[in-house]
Amino acid sequence: MMSNDCLFCKIIKGDIPGDIVEQTDSVLAFRDINPQAPTHILIVPNKVIPTVNDVSPDDENTLGHLFIVAKKLAEDEGIAEHGYRLLINCGAHGNQEVFHLHMHLVGGKPLGRMLSRNVREE
Ligand code: 5GP
Repeated sequence: MMSNDCLFCKIIKGDIPGDIVEQTDSVLAFRDINPQAPTHILIVPNKVIPTVNDVSPDDENTLGHLFIVAKKLAEDEGIAEHGYRLLINCGAHGNQEVFHLHMHLVGGKPLGRMLSRNVREE
């Protein structure tokens, strides 16, 4: 496992606490500290891939695994039937805050449109 000192690496290493809901050989899932919906979980590969722009063919299994974990967690959270949103932000225009690729699992209420109408152009 590659690691560095980013926030999510510290949670993966146990150096700072996280509300962990699932751990597999290649990913850790924990609740977002600032949830945008009743369920808001971050699914994070152990391997540090900063952004989607850094993805390589070697990452195919790990990235596919994010969906397997997301599906399981949606069932565990009781949100599978009504639906949910899976989201990966990339870079500045994607509003990515933590540069360790991660998938957001968001649900538990109607989520509205995919993008808010009030985003200001830079
Ligand atoms: P991004 O904008 O990079 O896609 O998402 C980063 C997410 O990490 C945000 O939703 C933010 O609330 C969450 N976050 C930031 N700091 C922490 C933290 O210390 N612990 C947890 N669990 N989530 C965090």
